[in-house]
Amino acid sequence: MNETYAQIRQWLESHESFVLLSHVRPDGDAIGSQLALGFALEAAGKKVRFINEDGLPENLAFMAGSERIETPPDEAVVADVVIALDTATRQRLGEKALAAVAGCGKWINIDHHKSNPGYGDLNWIDSGSPATGQILYQMIRAFGLPLPAESRDAIYVAVSTDTGSFQYAGTTAETYEMAADLVRCGLEVGKINALIYDNHPMRRVELMRALLNTLEVRGKGQVATWLLSQQTMQALGVRPEDSEGLIDIIRAIQGVIVAVFFEELPDGKIRVSMRSKDLRFDACKVCAMFGGGGHSLAAGIRMAGPMAEARERVLSAVEEELAASAG
Ligand code: 5GP
Ligand code: MN
Repeated sequence: MNETYAQIRQWLESHESFVLLSHVRPDGDAIGSQLALGFALEAAGKKVRFINEDGLPENLAFMAGSERIETPPDEAVVADVVIALDTATRQRLGEKALAAVAGCGKWINIDHHKSNPGYGDLNWIDSGSPATGQILYQMIRAFGLPLPAESRDAIYVAVSTDTGSFQYAGTTAETYEMAADLVRCGLEVGKINALIYDNHPMRRVELMRALLNTLEVRGKGQVATWLLSQQTMQALGVRPEDSEGLIDIIRAIQGVIVAVFFEELPDGKIRVSMRSKDLRFDACKVCAMFGGGGHSLAAGIRMAGPMAEARERVLSAVEEELAASAG
């Protein structure tokens, strides 16, 4: 165990109150990481608050303990230590969340994004881990923290959703060993998978239909792209979390190496979601050219609009990088 790891353990043991944060538009790994560590700390007798800029998305409301996730309060949050989870940059924690914890002096940053610059006082960034939830599982076991049912299930949701249900290349032997341990601890695999994957609102299927109508394949069949306008979002009453994971549909097209999803946000900015199927094409590198980041095979950007311009700029960069990586 290295020195930082030991220091994190010491901070967790020697402090009494913690506020746990995760990124804007939280996904399963973000909320799962908060619940996993938070309930373990609570079971160890600590005080914990769970804050997320955008609150709990509807698709994760089935998670035990998820009602504890709060949006940032207006008043200052008093806690000994802030722990940022699964969040590549400080800014991605959100303005209101950052303002709420501004008075807390001690920061721990635990993440698996290789683009994370290490903005905490103590940083544990393991880009070899397919999910922040897996890092937390290892910490809970290494530090001898309790593993209550909420944490057990949250770890599974975090890792399952970030690995595309244990499919992506980043899934490791430790991932499967961890899953086996969770099952032995009482995790109900069929039940939890049904809640994650077989319980989508009809809106999401309508959204899929609308997205398919915009599908374009370019770059010699290697780039698949679709887009979502504010107009379509409003017409279908789509919520931000409804598009979670849909990009895997176009990533799966035979011959496609890169999938890119463009979404118009209410403020006119464009959210870009990028997936690569080939380690020679680094999605994080291309996203970083536009101020974004993430992982080699899954990355994203928030950039200026309008849609048509953002789309052309990003797709040109993708095609250039594809040509370079093939050469
Ligand atoms: P998604 O496409 O699922 O939103 O994100 C894929 C990955 O890229 C996630 O790990 C996410 O944290 C990261 N990511 C998405 N958008 C951004 C962004 O605007 N900036 C940075 N730095 N990372 C992002
Ligand atoms: Mn993650």
